[in-house]
Parts: sequence; C-alpha cells; structure tokens
Amino acid sequence: MTKSVVAIAKGDDPEKLVAEVFSLLGGVENLVRPHSTVILKPNAGHPAPPETSVNTSPALVAAVIREVKKGRPKEVIVAEASAIGCDTLQCFEVSGIGAAAEEAGARLIDIKREKDLINIPIRDARSDLKKIKLPRLLLEAEHLFNLPIFKSHASMVFTCALKNMKGVVQDVTHQQMHMTDLAAAMMDVWSVIRADLNIADLIRPAEGYGPHTTIPVDFGCVVASKDPVALDATACRMVGLGIENVQYFKAAAERKLGNFREDDIEVVGRRIEEVQQNLWFPYIAGFDTWPEYTFYTSGACSSCTSLVAFTMEKLKALGQYERNAGCHVVVGPKRDEEMPQGVDPDQVILIGDCLKRYRGKGLGHCAAGCPPLEPHPLWVFIDREDHYEMEPYFRARMAEDEGPWRAWIERMKAERNSK
Ligand code: SF4
Repeated sequence: MTKSVVAIAKGDDPEKLVAEVFSLLGGVENLVRPHSTVILKPNAGHPAPPETSVNTSPALVAAVIREVKKGRPKEVIVAEASAIGCDTLQCFEVSGIGAAAEEAGARLIDIKREKDLINIPIRDARSDLKKIKLPRLLLEAEHLFNLPIFKSHASMVFTCALKNMKGVVQDVTHQQMHMTDLAAAMMDVWSVIRADLNIADLIRPAEGYGPHTTIPVDFGCVVASKDPVALDATACRMVGLGIENVQYFKAAAERKLGNFREDDIEVVGRRIEEVQQNLWFPYIAGFDTWPEYTFYTSGACSSCTSLVAFTMEKLKALGQYERNAGCHVVVGPKRDEEMPQGVDPDQVILIGDCLKRYRGKGLGHCAAGCPPLEPHPLWVFIDREDHYEMEPYFRARMAEDEGPWRAWIERMKAERNSK
C-alpha cells in the first residue's frame, strides 16, 4: 500500500507555515495547474470572531490564497455553506475570512445561495443519503482545497478535515445528514466530492467544550496532506487524542478514503513528537460522562446531542447537576415504545422538535426548536417547564449564567493542568 504523506510545519508566521507545507508536498507548481479554478473551503460555519478559533483563521486563508496564486490559476474562490440557521455571508464577515480573502484576491461564494446544482447519486451509500445536490461550480473546478480548523466537538470528539467537507452541501442535505448516521453520511459526501488537498489550521486550535464554547490554544502548526484521513489521524496524534475514541476513522476506513494507521503514513517536516501538545477533550467518554442521568439518544442529530452534552456541563457549572440527577433525557425521533416507561413525567426532559408531539401531554418538559436555542434545555431542567421561544428575559438570563460558566471552565482547565 502506498503511504500517505502528511506535512507538518511549526512557527508563528502563517505565510511561512503555508509556504512550507506546499513545499514539503511537492511545491505549488505541482499542486496547482496554471489557468485553473481553485476553490478553497474553509470552516466559516458560525458568526464568531477570529479570536474564538471557531472558524479557520483569516490569516491562514489569506496565506493559502497568496501561495495558490503563485501557481498562476485563473481564479481563486473561497466557498462555504455555513451551519444550519447561520447566514454564510455574515459568517464570512464576522470571522474575518471575507475581508482577508478579498484582500488577498479571492472571490467569495455562499454555497447556500447557488442555484446551479447537480444531483449526484451516491453509490454504495453507507448512510440514508442516496443522492446529494452539489453546486456545479464545485464539481467543475480543477481544484478543491479543504481548509479546516482543528477543534474539539461534543458529539464527534473533534472536527478537522473529514468533517469540514460537510459544509459543501446546502441546508436540506445538511439536515438530512444530521438525521442519519452523521459519520457515514460525511464519508458518503467524500465519496462523490473529494478535496485534492487539505490544509489544517492548528495555529490556534480549540480544546474544551466545542463547538459551543471553544478554548483556543497556541499551537503554531499547519498540517497538510492529500489524504484527509491521514491528516486527521496525524492531527489527533499531535494533540494526544487516541484515534480509537473517534468513530470517523472506522467509517473512513470502510469507505477506503485514506490511511489512518501510523505505519501507512509518512510524516514530513516536523516530527509529531517535536510538536506534540495535549489538548483537552472533556466529552471523550460520551454520555457515560454523566452516569447519574439516563439518555435516550438513538437517531438524534449531532446538533442536539452536542447541545445535550454541553447542557450537562452547564448544569454542573450552575450547581444544578445533583439537584436534577435521575432525570431521563430524550432526544431525537422516537416511537412511543422507545420513550421512558414508568418514569415520573416531571423527571423526563424532551429535547427538540422531533418530540413536539409529546408537548402538552403531561409526559415531560420540553425544549423545543430544531435544534433548540442554546440555553433552553438548561432552563427546562432548572425550571421544569417548557422553553421554546425568545422569552423577554432571554438575554438577561443568559448573561446571568455566563459568569458561573466561565468560572467553571477556568476551574476545569486548572484541574486538568494540575494533573
Ligand atoms: S430536533 Fe434535534 S434531533 Fe430532531 S431533527 Fe432537529 S436537530 Fe435533529
């Protein structure tokens, strides 16, 4: 089997880091065809500023554009479909990616607004996705370069190259992906549209309670590979995350998308041991992290399961965890026989619109929304009443919760650092 090559560069200047990984992988003249169209797909999924490390850093995006231009392409385009419920153009603006890309000479495209779509069947689909609609532009471009940021993620443990390509689809497909086996659906997307180069931002990756509350860490690396699986596996090794904790890799291996075993990867540039720095993944044990509660999560989207995970930690931060111990938390579509049986309805918390048919039936308390707004599940636990709209006190109450939450994060970080 041919080894996958992964390039690691370390330093503090994004321009130099990007130039170095291009050079390590054969040089821009071998990676970019002259007169080609090059599409860059960063993570610009949420309207969060650069200092949060929620999105790819604008400095990395600009550095890649400048490097790619040395290969004399016809055009460089930065394209994204932001998370469900977010406006891509607003995400470009708030993340700083829009201004940085335009200044470096690229055009911006919101994939969600593209009208010229091609419906592509997925052969041998592993998820419920049988076809996906993709913009013609993405399919016809000579190059697609994937520019993820590495960050912790409540339901998927981490997100990097493989997961970032979820942002090439519009909201309808995105929603379908979340309602099936997400890891398998991600690999199904890769089976019909493959980035030919992946350049990951580990300049300031994020640890902690991602994707809701990221904690950026100075790491100073850029990692690149033509093989997204090898890149993600190498990035995991760089941050001390055992790949056996991540279901992606099994799904990727089944799809034959790349190599994740160390023996099948050749690392060039810096060695892993040279740059290794452990990041913190508080959700690594999944729902076993909160044994005092009973969870019913089958079929739930990652947006709702990650919200539940985040809520459990926020209950602790607000001193509400023990008080609510024993609750049964239901999330995702359920048949009646899958619902908690013989349980006091006051102890049943229903998360999301999948369960709205139970609202008002005296079978539990409901956080409505698809997915619910971030604080609603928390308030349903605390108040034992339904929450599902922007109540007048919404912002004030969120601000009240923020202080204890920040204090909790600092305490957890200090405990982790003292180990
Ligand atoms: S309510 Fe949650 S689990 Fe149900 S479809 Fe919406 S996001 Fe998915």
